[in-house]
Amino acid sequence: MKTLLIWFVLMNLDTGHSTETHDQVLSITSKTQEQVDVLKNISTQHETVLWQPDSPQYIREESHVHLFVPANSSKTVKDLLQKHSIAYVILLDNTKELIEMQTRNVSTDPRSSSSYYQRYHSLEEIYYWINWTAQNNPSTVKVILIGSSYEKRPLYALKLTLNNRPNKTALWIDCGIHAREWIAPAFCLWFVQHSLSFYGRNKDITNILDNMDVYVLPVMNPDGYKYTWTTDRMWRKNRSISKGSSCIGVDLNRNFDANWCTMGASHEPCSQIYCGAFPESEPESQAVADFLRSHKDSVQLYLTIHSYSQMLLFPYSCTLDEVENHQDLLEMAQEAAQNIKRHYGNNYKYGAGAKTIYLAPGGSDDWVYNLGIKYSFTFELQDRGEYGFLLPPSHISKACKEAVTAVKAIALKVIEKTQVPTRSLYTV
Ligand SMILES: [Zn+2]
Repeated sequence: MKTLLIWFVLMNLDTGHSTETHDQVLSITSKTQEQVDVLKNISTQHETVLWQPDSPQYIREESHVHLFVPANSSKTVKDLLQKHSIAYVILLDNTKELIEMQTRNVSTDPRSSSSYYQRYHSLEEIYYWINWTAQNNPSTVKVILIGSSYEKRPLYALKLTLNNRPNKTALWIDCGIHAREWIAPAFCLWFVQHSLSFYGRNKDITNILDNMDVYVLPVMNPDGYKYTWTTDRMWRKNRSISKGSSCIGVDLNRNFDANWCTMGASHEPCSQIYCGAFPESEPESQAVADFLRSHKDSVQLYLTIHSYSQMLLFPYSCTLDEVENHQDLLEMAQEAAQNIKRHYGNNYKYGAGAKTIYLAPGGSDDWVYNLGIKYSFTFELQDRGEYGFLLPPSHISKACKEAVTAVKAIALKVIEKTQVPTRSLYTV
């Protein structure tokens, strides 16, 4: 028996070595409608996770589909693709390695060091960071509890008030509405640190903070974010339980009351773009909506941070109609994209959501716009699929700098259009 076991192990070592498969991400392109249908089936019936687009319903001929394929489904999926002559390339060959890279050394840097902001942090660490930041900046940073998640985790926003003049307007930024988009919370931390460090030193950020208070919600979906650290790195939705289904989670960015659950969202709880039982059914989206409803007179600019695909989007995503100030928003997004290109060389697409990507109803940006906050943007940060959601920590810095460039361009324009700026404290 023992001899047999050794022989079996040796055989496996011998044959297994060269054909070892990892969890991978494939980039797949269907040329015909039949291939599109096969791919839709593969992405729903096998143990895979769609990275791009958000849901199989958006798969079209010639579109590049990014599909996460765990090692144990690899052979089945590739056999099916080959059988139907569907072209694919391996985008990422070993996602486990990249995930390890993203979670390494999570709390070794002091929170005051710049290297701290070039790493991804666990939810617990982000909660510590929120308190640490407020304690170290007692006159300028306040923590506001705006609600709690489905699993009762607190939703903390930071309020930055660098200048105490009365009747200031405000900028709102939320990050991490989708759990797996880790660069988003990393950006919120980066932005707060950048604001506190460069106020009075950098002309643009000083001008912005002299004219606007800034609310920053670093993790809008804490339950989902926690789950991506502990259990499933590919998780997108929140973690709420739906009646009558074993599938978990609502897509919070389909849960707002803007053409809620029309084309581009799903009533099916197992879908990645499940809209929930009714608009604002989820405590996370309700908390943000409540806060913005009660601050709609001061908040002039709304920004929500996502990844990946490098786009600067504005309403509408829930209809192909143009908003009344379309031209304004287009010019602001264009300037932001041009600045990024000039300083960092990267291309960002820009435009109204529905026309630039596809119809996506129930999004926070559209709802905010209809509430009366006429400057509303969704940023899709780096990259364009090279690493996707698994953007290595070494890329955080550039991704955040690009996004700061865009925030500055847009916020300065909003100030210019909505108020007479006060004299900046900044002096040359
Ligand atoms: Zn997203």
